Amino acid sequence: METTYRKTLIVVFSLLIMSSTLLGNTTNCINGTWSKTENLLKNEVKVEVLQFNVTATSPYSVKLQWKLSYNSSNLYIKVIRYFITFESTIAILSSTISNFTDQWVQFGTQYSYKIVVINENNEILAQSETKHIITPIDQNNPGKPLYNWTYYKNIKYPFSQENYLNYDQDNFTIFRYILHGVNVTVAVAKNLSPNPSTNFLTSFVNHVFTYFHRHWTVYQAFPINEYRIIVLHNGKLCGEDELGLQYGDTGKDAITQVGTGGRLSHEIGHAWIGGILQVERNLPNGKTFNPETQDSDKWIIEGFDSFYGNIQLDLQEALNMLQHDLEYYRNTMLGTSLDKPLVDLPIYFGTEYAYTYYCKGELVAYLINKILIDTDNKTLNDFMRYLYSKYNITTWEERETKLISTEKLLQELNNFSKYNFTEFFQKYVYNTTELPIEKIDTKYIQPLRNFQEQIPTQINMTQTQQPTKNTNLIIATSTIIITATLITTILITKRKNKKDKTPNLSNSSSNQTKS
Ligand SMILES: [Zn+2]
Repeated sequence: METTYRKTLIVVFSLLIMSSTLLGNTTNCINGTWSKTENLLKNEVKVEVLQFNVTATSPYSVKLQWKLSYNSSNLYIKVIRYFITFESTIAILSSTISNFTDQWVQFGTQYSYKIVVINENNEILAQSETKHIITPIDQNNPGKPLYNWTYYKNIKYPFSQENYLNYDQDNFTIFRYILHGVNVTVAVAKNLSPNPSTNFLTSFVNHVFTYFHRHWTVYQAFPINEYRIIVLHNGKLCGEDELGLQYGDTGKDAITQVGTGGRLSHEIGHAWIGGILQVERNLPNGKTFNPETQDSDKWIIEGFDSFYGNIQLDLQEALNMLQHDLEYYRNTMLGTSLDKPLVDLPIYFGTEYAYTYYCKGELVAYLINKILIDTDNKTLNDFMRYLYSKYNITTWEERETKLISTEKLLQELNNFSKYNFTEFFQKYVYNTTELPIEKIDTKYIQPLRNFQEQIPTQINMTQTQQPTKNTNLIIATSTIIITATLITTILITKRKNKKDKTPNLSNSSSNQTKS
């Protein structure tokens, strides 16, 4: 009996000691953090990023690995990703972790990474250098570039001049960003006069990269391994197809005049609409046509590209531009002789009223997108991808069979959607029935903008782990104390009961012995 009692007491004391140690740790954690942070701030404890490596492990994942000179549960690692000009904190991890995989990247695309060591107050204690990586091309992805630029130029535009959109290392300043397997290149001649400021050029090239990326997200495909924008002294605008664009340094085609907004985005959009996808009757009979006997499909190119040129701007700017065009239609066109069926409006080509078919065509694209979202839970992006897969033109010979007309567009919309677009086309494309749009609704614009440029924090170990850890400690400690108290109470009660009974027993036993 005595031995069991002693053993139990030892267990109880051990439990109490354990609990006090645990409690001590909990409080030490808090005190420890403060003192360590103080030390860290006073530079008494140095944290350094000793190693930082970035490797693409697949077309869709990048693995980051690092080594710190010191780690602790009170220090955290912020993993930062850069894409064009967009910065995202993709993870905040305990510093005891030494790797992270970014699984939100796209194939054949350039990214940069950095890690930052922070304390609980989000103060930066150390950081790595920035490392760059290009993810490999997914060879199984049908949207990967299939052709070399020069080869493609010869098979698709065999009539183009030898030196068309050419540049060289010596006479051009070259800016480049790899997106979806495409070398997006801006080559600026060194002899421009006037010379654009460095700030403008930086902003210009970053907008080129951003718009190219955003237009790509609609089709998820581009046929060539390069896209070029060449800026020449005395250059005039030409191109507006998938090979690229040329700008100049003076007049309306100067890059400073083109700027970094809607006009630039619109022209880059022509790589797909107008370049890869082309219409049958752009301007029949050259520059003029007879709307009494002929239709033009030019409204498709300019209308759809005006819509997408605006969609790819920053959201507020996109909404403002669309709203502006809606007001132009309602206030300047509607009910006047300016308003004509869309297939006739291109008679204004080259006049001050050319904007009419850009604007009305864009609003019809907006309505088609609205119907696809409401009826099919799909977007105009899905339909454009469908058109791309059927009508993308990659050789000169292919042109004849893959040109899109207004009739074909209607037929393909009816194939693609549960909605019957025949009456819609009758009213808004072949006639001048008032377009049913009161205001531009963001809910029909947002689903078209799936750019994945800035991604939210994917893992945040500072918010979930810390409080749980402390709560668990307190729960564990309390359980041990309660158990110890219970055992002690039971033991004391038992011992008391025993003591009450013992004299009789001993008496009797002694009595028994005596007797
Ligand atoms: Zn255009």
